[in-house]
Amino acid sequence: MDITDPDAVARFEIPVQPIPAGVAAADNIRLDMLRLDMTDQVVSGNKWFKLVYNLEAAHAGGHRTLLSFGGPWSNHLVALAAVARKAGLAAVGMVRGQHAAINPSPSLRYCAEMGMQLRYLSRHEYALKDDPGFLEHLRREWNDPYIVPQGGANSEGRKGAGLIAAYIPGHYTHVCVAAGTGTTLAGLREHLPVAQQVTGFAPMKQGRYLEAVIGGWLSDRQNRNWSVTDNYHFGGFGKMTVSLQQWMEDFYSQYGIPLDRVYTAKMMFGVLDQVAAGIFPRDAQILCIHTGGLQNYE
Ligand SMILES: *Cc1c(COP(=O)(O)O)cnc(C)c1O
Repeated sequence: MDITDPDAVARFEIPVQPIPAGVAAADNIRLDMLRLDMTDQVVSGNKWFKLVYNLEAAHAGGHRTLLSFGGPWSNHLVALAAVARKAGLAAVGMVRGQHAAINPSPSLRYCAEMGMQLRYLSRHEYALKDDPGFLEHLRREWNDPYIVPQGGANSEGRKGAGLIAAYIPGHYTHVCVAAGTGTTLAGLREHLPVAQQVTGFAPMKQGRYLEAVIGGWLSDRQNRNWSVTDNYHFGGFGKMTVSLQQWMEDFYSQYGIPLDRVYTAKMMFGVLDQVAAGIFPRDAQILCIHTGGLQNYE
């Protein structure tokens, strides 16, 4: 599977799996899940999509190094490390928090194994991750790397996320996706027919601020028929409750679909809750996107 070529990325074999529980409570509603988590054992989900055009831009600019930012559990840094290795480029990861150096997470250990050089920034330094002066300093320090913002949240990232639209047949009336930076949702909204309603599930408190961010990225023509809900944050970003954990385990035993604790468990819980609450119309055909994030390193 070639993750460095946009044409190939638009033609993976990605299964769609029915979730019959979604139909029980409501009228003739169909609920399916697009298993982007099955693209690869380690680097799965939406992160490759967001990197594929960044890689193209890095090549076009003659850069030999990719540099980006993320927290200690960043799926984005994991994907970047793997993509850089496949493309024969060096990789540098700027990690949020110096404490992460003392006992690196499995994600960071995997990044290091893939050859990524890691630098641990204090929270104060990390806050400069989009500051032009700081980025200029990093360009000099790291031999003119191609810099990808945290989460792959740039126009190349949105264009790449738009490739996911190729996996969404036109008969679906609703598309549901977890939103962190909103890059994936924006890419989808830009490339799906406006008739398909897109709902983002933000896993953090007050996540509806993403609507302003995403709206600012969309063209006028596509800036319709979408929204973000933050009703399913379960205490905030990275937080979990015992009942959600139990729910995830039940979902796994019922469908054999592993969900991640940060994004897709909250999204999927939210979709089923909305179905039960009658928020989707009769005859709705809903496609939920499994954006990956499972990190099976061992
Ligand atoms: C990164 C990630 C997201 C968030 O994607 P954005 O494009 O930043 O909104 C959603 N789900 C999973 C599993 C992720 O790892």
